[in-house]
Amino acid sequence: MRLENLRLLHFRNYEQLEVPLQHDITIFYGDNAQGKTNLLEGIYVAARGFSFRTRHEEELPQFGAEDWAAQLDYRDRYGENRLLVKRYRERGRRRKENLLNGTAVSPKEQYGLVNLVLFTPDDLQLVKGDPSLRRKFLNMEIAQTSPVYYDLLAKYNRVLLQRNKFLKQCRDREHLEEAQLSVWDVALSQLAAGIVDARLQALSGIREAAQKVYDGITGTHGALQLSYVQKQSGGEVPLETTPGREEWVSFYQEQFKARHRLDYLRGYTSIGPHRDDLEIVHQGRSLKAYGSQGQQRTAALALKLSELEFIRGVRDEYPVLLLDDVLSELDAHRREKLLGFINGTVQTFLTVNDRQLAPVSGDVAAWQVREGRLEAEA
Ligand code: ATP
Ligand code: MG
Repeated sequence: MRLENLRLLHFRNYEQLEVPLQHDITIFYGDNAQGKTNLLEGIYVAARGFSFRTRHEEELPQFGAEDWAAQLDYRDRYGENRLLVKRYRERGRRRKENLLNGTAVSPKEQYGLVNLVLFTPDDLQLVKGDPSLRRKFLNMEIAQTSPVYYDLLAKYNRVLLQRNKFLKQCRDREHLEEAQLSVWDVALSQLAAGIVDARLQALSGIREAAQKVYDGITGTHGALQLSYVQKQSGGEVPLETTPGREEWVSFYQEQFKARHRLDYLRGYTSIGPHRDDLEIVHQGRSLKAYGSQGQQRTAALALKLSELEFIRGVRDEYPVLLLDDVLSELDAHRREKLLGFINGTVQTFLTVNDRQLAPVSGDVAAWQVREGRLEAEA
């Protein structure tokens, strides 16, 4: 996958921008608050149709503007494509257009078009933060290559919401209707089984790739361990392999049934893929509890970079890598290893304050970002 060109119109602090992207490495450097992250966000929004920074689309148009657009030209195995994301007002009504080569695409279709891996300083939370962030990581990683998983997840969330709503209704009426609840159990256990099975299958590939990256950057050997942790009646159980989808269906049906009373009292579903976690361990110790900031950052980076190999395994081509502000956060040794790792393998876009920290050799283009304008490096 190669990105070739980006155009932004009234997007964040860019009035109007066109920038060629076809080099192996493109560097955006400059002082704080000049528009470096905005630019990566522009690439991301054109590719995906939504931002990684905010769920509020009204933050994206340039201050004072309403209409905005982001357009990305890219090349995949099948040829050249153009994605255009456009928001405007027509006869007083807001219009949204997401177009692939001029034809409307749904969010689900768009999600898998341009495979991107993004790493930002916030991704440190992948190791330090809530389980929900690690679930989201797994979900996004798998959904990028599997529309089936994308659907499963959407359906699961919908049915889960309905089951929870039903539990609350029962609680309000002070009467548990077990027969009706069992109907929800059946639907939910099918979907839960599909999700856990897919996650465990995917994890076997992710685990290996993440270990390789981590060892490569830190010079360790097999130091990073990832395990899928499932909430069960007896507590949290780490899982290595999947017994298969059918086994998971029966497992969840039994578990849901056994928890009718508990779920009724709590008013929500107490077990399922929505409560599982990914445990990240460095040489036998939880990185969340014991890791240094640098170790946690490197592990988060390894997890994210594992997506590169994972996606290549499924898609037969590497995704594109966006690295926001990563270089200054690593020590010189790790930085060098990271740059050695990406150079020549994947097309990379990176932002940095200090130009000196980013690479100079190879097929590199560098742009200085100043107040929403780009200047080619002298
Ligand atoms: P840093 O090195 O600190 O990360 P950066 O170059 O990545 O800086 P950005 O986050 O890309 O900076 O840009 C931040 C600037 O963009 C801020 O000055 C902010 O006020 C401005 N900005 C954010 N949203 C909009 C918008 N909708 N319209 C115009 N300007 C905006
Ligand atoms: Mg920034």
